[in-house]
Amino acid sequence: MAGATVPTSTEAESSCATQSIFSANDSARDMILNSPLWEFWYSADGALEVVSNACETCCGYEAKHFYRNSRFMEAILIEEHLPLWHGLWRKINDGENYASAEFQIRLPDSKKRWMKFEASRALDANGCYRGIRAFCHDITSHRSVVQQLMHFTWHDSLTKLPNRCKCIKKIQKTITRAQTTGCWNFSIIYIDIDRFKNINDSLGHEAGDTILCKLADRLRDSTYGFETVFRIGGDEFVLIYEDTSDHQSVHRSIDRLIKRIKRPILWNGKQIHMSASFGIMHADMEVETAERYLQNAHVALNHGRSNCTSGVAVYDSKIFSKALKLISMELDLHNALLNDEFFLVYQPVVDTMTRAVTGFEALVRWKNSQGQIISPSKFIPLAEETGLILELGEWVLLEACSTLAAWRKSNSQFRNLKVNVNLSARQLSDLNLTDTVAQILEKTGLPPNCLRLEVTETMLMENPDYADTTLHRLRALGVGLCIDDFGTGYSSLMYLQQFPISNLKIDRSFVTDMEKNPANYEIVKAVVALAHALGLTVVAEGVEEEEQRIMLMEAGCDFSQGYLFSRPIPPEELPAMVNTMQMPQKSLPQAG
Ligand code: C2E
Ligand code: CA
Ligand code: CA
Repeated sequence: MAGATVPTSTEAESSCATQSIFSANDSARDMILNSPLWEFWYSADGALEVVSNACETCCGYEAKHFYRNSRFMEAILIEEHLPLWHGLWRKINDGENYASAEFQIRLPDSKKRWMKFEASRALDANGCYRGIRAFCHDITSHRSVVQQLMHFTWHDSLTKLPNRCKCIKKIQKTITRAQTTGCWNFSIIYIDIDRFKNINDSLGHEAGDTILCKLADRLRDSTYGFETVFRIGGDEFVLIYEDTSDHQSVHRSIDRLIKRIKRPILWNGKQIHMSASFGIMHADMEVETAERYLQNAHVALNHGRSNCTSGVAVYDSKIFSKALKLISMELDLHNALLNDEFFLVYQPVVDTMTRAVTGFEALVRWKNSQGQIISPSKFIPLAEETGLILELGEWVLLEACSTLAAWRKSNSQFRNLKVNVNLSARQLSDLNLTDTVAQILEKTGLPPNCLRLEVTETMLMENPDYADTTLHRLRALGVGLCIDDFGTGYSSLMYLQQFPISNLKIDRSFVTDMEKNPANYEIVKAVVALAHALGLTVVAEGVEEEEQRIMLMEAGCDFSQGYLFSRPIPPEELPAMVNTMQMPQKSLPQAG
């Protein structure tokens, strides 16, 4: 039977062992022969007594082969699985009651099948060892399901790239290799596709999936052997560069990748332009876990997003302490809304010629639990990133509208004034924005034409289709729309024409050095002229000097805003401010 691995009885058992399990005309033997399962019975001394006829159905060989050649199973087993077979018999010979092994056999047509062989010692009613009973099952289809499951465990089903688990495993292996060889020449690159959420929101998930697959292909095609690419989250990928010659080679490779990613992607006849941000963590002997490499590369990525234009950042410990600060600020920000720590200040927008107040811009402030006033430029980007901006933005809208509505009721001078509220990109892509605005107007009783929403060109350019729909819906409500920071983005007035905008704010940077820089003054004049030709009114931001006001007046700029007239002030100071500014202005002291 099993040749070198013949089962033998232990000493105690041999005293009651008989040569055959079956008596001459044993009907049990016939039952086994006709069993639908592939069964083997061996006598206590190891001779094959019976093999069921089902063996032919299971492996394609008739039973006679097994009777003739006691090592026939070994002959059809694939060679590298032979140790498994021998191991099984060793266990049985060592006295274990049960042993099993999974291995492949080769069928007469050379195809391979996976089998599970289970052998157990057969004892009679007196506990005497009578031989071995074994079953052999075909487990090929089970194995293929398991293999598929394994594939799912390690691969992403959309892009077919290896996934986060596989990535962690690979990085850990890379670290271990570096520890053994002493060659710390690898880099982990974290890649996040910029504004991918916008694609999903504006074009739908199907487009999102297609674009992700195309980007995954580009990443995969760019791997030249020493890199491996993984998809570790929605729009997040990781590259592992191994055996790199120096950091420069990694950076050169990323430069190529950036170009590749930027090539337009065709979807439904449209050209979609994508970009990505990169965080790099070069090998560091002191970092021992894969998770830490990923985390650090991610920290670098976030740092790069907010601090550098190239979109590529390398991790260092300074970045880490900055990130820690941000995390604690993020937590504070969450509590700030609950604890009413936000408040609004209002900066007047005046008629450039008469200095009469025409409205206010609401600007949010945060007084944190330590009593420090934090500037919106510090926390708005964070609120954007965490999604808290939706709640905060709604609060700002409600607060600004109810403040103006209240003053309108009690003070006739407020009748024709407007309040400007800044929107963030995330709010503009929120499907509920128009409903939210409508509800707030209804709740506060503020007429829609008293509210003006400020959006930047960049926000519109990044999501033109979606912005267009939302802005038209808002305009239909009767709300005014204003382009903020004009000149810092794409500065295409012709492009902006497609949006229902009534007002344009020239960015402070043009106004600031208008007197010293004639080119800037020329730009201001040109923007005013073109805006007027398109039926828009113009506000100049950041007016600090009387000289600037005069130049703006000469350029025909309708409205101005800046420290020359007033810094942002708390709402209770508004009536006095409106009153003073409405008076004849000649001898007015300048607000600081
Ligand atoms: P912005 O919309 O361009 O607001 C004008 C900023 O310029 C304000 O800074 C204002 O205080 C400042 N400013 C006004 N006049 C002068 C001047 O004469 N000289 C100088 N040097 N600065 C002047 P602030 O309040 O720190 O706001 C910064 C930015 O934060 C705003 O820029 C706006 O983008 C954002 N922001 C403020 N409040 C909100 C809000 O409620 N929601 C959103 N989404 N963003 C807001
Ligand atoms: Ca603004
Ligand atoms: Ca502005």
